[in-house]
Amino acid sequence: MSQTNCLFCKIRDGQIPARVVYRDDTCMAFEDINPQAPTHVLFIPLKHISTVNDVEMDDRQTVGHLYTAAAKVAKERGHADKGYRLVMNCNEDAGQTVFHIHLHLVAGRPMGWPPG
Ligand code: AMP
Ligand code: ZN
Repeated sequence: MSQTNCLFCKIRDGQIPARVVYRDDTCMAFEDINPQAPTHVLFIPLKHISTVNDVEMDDRQTVGHLYTAAAKVAKERGHADKGYRLVMNCNEDAGQTVFHIHLHLVAGRPMGWPPG
């Protein structure tokens, strides 16, 4: 499933380059182009879903899959013990800028809470 002019659909299809770090039959992950921490990787479903508001019941496994893939990469990079943050922004107030859902894996430095 694809949406014309979606940046992350184009990365998924190899039309725009990215540093891909993980891929399976449900999701893929690549390095954020503007990293906010030593590890900043984005996990996207292969299926185009614009925002969390558009997640349907049938997508539950797909969205859950993003978390298990992110935890796997976090562990591989040695972040499991010290910890890491997984964030999915939805719409304007949260600062969503790319409208293909993505789970941010941010790790490698201490982080504050609440976020700005
Ligand atoms: P969000 O603000 O939650 O929508 O996050 C979008 C993220 O996508 C930001 O952290 C951007 O740095 C990142 N981003 C934008 N364009 C690209 C790209 N071409 N390759 C990798 N990451 C990107
Ligand atoms: Zn898309």
